[in-house]
Amino acid sequence: MNTFASESGDGKDFVSHAPGYWSDTVPELWNDWKWQLKNRVTTLAQLEKHLELSAEERSGVLLSGDKLALAVTPHFFNLLPANNPDDPIRRQVVPRIEETWTSPYDMADPCGEDSHMPVPGLVHRYPDRVLFLVTDRCASYCRYCTRSRVVSGVGEQELHTNFEAAFRYLEAHTEVRDVLLSGGDALIFSDDRLEKLLSRLRAIRHIEFLRIGTRVPIFLPQRITPELCAMLAKYHPLWMSVHVNHPRELTIEVKHALERLANAGIPLGNQSVLLAGVNDDVETMKTLVHKLLMCRVRPYYIYQCDLINGSSHLRTSVAKGIEIIEGLRGHTTGYAVPQFVIDAPGGGGKVPINPGYILYHDNEKIVIRNYEGKIFEYPETGNENLQFAPQREYHDEYLYS
Ligand code: SF4
Repeated sequence: MNTFASESGDGKDFVSHAPGYWSDTVPELWNDWKWQLKNRVTTLAQLEKHLELSAEERSGVLLSGDKLALAVTPHFFNLLPANNPDDPIRRQVVPRIEETWTSPYDMADPCGEDSHMPVPGLVHRYPDRVLFLVTDRCASYCRYCTRSRVVSGVGEQELHTNFEAAFRYLEAHTEVRDVLLSGGDALIFSDDRLEKLLSRLRAIRHIEFLRIGTRVPIFLPQRITPELCAMLAKYHPLWMSVHVNHPRELTIEVKHALERLANAGIPLGNQSVLLAGVNDDVETMKTLVHKLLMCRVRPYYIYQCDLINGSSHLRTSVAKGIEIIEGLRGHTTGYAVPQFVIDAPGGGGKVPINPGYILYHDNEKIVIRNYEGKIFEYPETGNENLQFAPQREYHDEYLYS
């Protein structure tokens, strides 16, 4: 099928758009991930060849070049309709003038990573795990990227990861049992380069668990070759967090790429960012989580959009995220319900945000409500040994009923 996703309705189906705007490209090239990278859309002229840009987009492309580069793989570009600047996929990758606006809450480093970096490129913020920024490049660039200060190579900072110093730090810090490779996106490395990195980490005996945070299976599914999967399978336990925001991103090619990873024994989780005009409604999120399960991906997190500079037009209220969880929990299988989190500004880490299911809690009982709003009591027992102070939450409708 060769159709734009906006024409295929609500994104519930797995659709292929290839070759789309690249109708004269032969499949051998189209399916080559290096061809996809070489032929990314990176300039205003290339954008205008295919899309009718709005004034906001055109100015955004002209003015955002020193903040976060424009780059979209042909595969992902085929999801963009020619005439709709408000399209949820287009809003994620085409710059807009709003990126140059600043809100009083905006920050360059909203998660406080730079202040938790014991060696360049290694973020050690939690007790037993580290974030290893192995590259500043991605297959395509997301306009709301929380690391836009370093990602893409045109922003205000440069990433100078010191690999040897990072390995030495990890060898010395025996409390680190979990390393997350991110950046940028480690899957744009060649198989050889990535294998050298993984084998070096695996040689550190106290590192139990490796993770890769990546959007490559979505932007560049051609990269998920059988050879890559076979190589990754040598380094288990290796988990992967992918990043899908809208159900239309789950094309047939992406589904097959995710299946190849799952067949290599890699547990897959998804991290979505809650974005205005992209996925800020229950129905879109419900379709997304159901499609993810069909791709063997467990919905893991929904992030409240970080307070990154120039992203205020893409941020939603926190209440919207709570409403989405309320619309999922109990209404569909628990495997489909991600955890909504705020990455606490300044480096506080991820804090789970949930609808209020606890109506009252003391040393004798907890009063809870279910997804239908029905109220139940459960006895609190053995409370003399409680190690925590029970929360008391007073809800008028319970107290006065
Ligand atoms: S793929 Fe990840 S690191 Fe790269 S631009 Fe998107 S959000 Fe940022």
